[in-house]
Amino acid sequence: MSEAKSIRDTVILGSGCAGLTAAIYAARSNLKPLVLEGHEPGGQLSITTLVENFPGWPEGVQGPELIENMKSQASRFGAELRMAHLTSADLSKSPFELVVGKDIVKTRSLIIASGASARWLGLASEQALIGFGVSSCATCDGFFASGKEIAVIGGGDSAMEEALFLTRFATKVTLINRSENFRASRIMLERAVAHPQIEFLHNTVVEECLGVEEKDLKGLKLLNTKSGERWTLPVSFMFLGIGHIPNATMFAGQIDLDADGYIKTEDNVFVSFMSERLQGVYACGDVQDRRYRQAITAAGTGCMAALEVEKYLEELGR
Ligand code: NAP
Repeated sequence: MSEAKSIRDTVILGSGCAGLTAAIYAARSNLKPLVLEGHEPGGQLSITTLVENFPGWPEGVQGPELIENMKSQASRFGAELRMAHLTSADLSKSPFELVVGKDIVKTRSLIIASGASARWLGLASEQALIGFGVSSCATCDGFFASGKEIAVIGGGDSAMEEALFLTRFATKVTLINRSENFRASRIMLERAVAHPQIEFLHNTVVEECLGVEEKDLKGLKLLNTKSGERWTLPVSFMFLGIGHIPNATMFAGQIDLDADGYIKTEDNVFVSFMSERLQGVYACGDVQDRRYRQAITAAGTGCMAALEVEKYLEELGR
């Protein structure tokens, strides 16, 4: 194959909602995108159960099914999905050079849709119960907590927001903070403290999630790190609100990131380096969105990124 022919028009990093929407649009424009599925193929939707707020599914849809449908839709129009992830990238070269395992992939444009991974406690029992009473997304799974007693972990705005939101469903929310200090903004903290359905536990950590055998969360083994007291809190749901980690560290030094490592974007999808717009590189979905973090907003920016790629390639005379 000649050098020019082996250069891709576009490569998409990530196969969550943003990446796959970008793939559908790019493939329908005949750009034959290569999608690198990444470390967590399918992204956060693939570890969710029922998604009830994605338009077009009146009865809801299972997260993994939604992702599978998007994959077949992208493949039908010629997207190439590869079970691989990016080792490193050189964005100073034109075309860009991506190291993918042992291969070097050259591409004229790049869509970064590598998402953000929810931060977990890291307990084996917690991991075993994801989707069975353990969740990192109150918006997605809150409804299933209807009429139940639940716990929310964290002391930042995410935890306060989740706890307040979940009072719509749960009869009681116990907010478990590992220290007595809060990162949450005063207003959010005050709202949560004032809420009659929310109870606070300070200096408390989860040691184990109970119910692994039954595949259904039955309670949490807790430890008060100050007093040394141990006890079991009977709850049917545990929601993590301890932050997200954007998957963008591999671009540090080549793309502007904010203080928490999210890719900075302008007009939704344009990225920059040293405040100068980077031509041909776009970011979409949760890797650049700390605010909305919804499947539908990720899909929206995925679409925008693909449309910008089309325009950019047209300007290059492709
Ligand atoms: P955050 O502010 O970084 O807070 C994370 C919280 O989780 C902290 O209380 C931290 O405790 C705790 N934590 C971290 N790892 C833990 C672990 N392994 N075990 C137990 N606890 C752990 O994260 P965030 O709440 O997601 O907020 C991120 C940013 O988004 C913030 O700037 C926030 O203001 C913003 N945000 C805004 C809104 C809103 O305005 N509506 C909503 C959500 C988020 P330590 O303090 O002990 O480290």
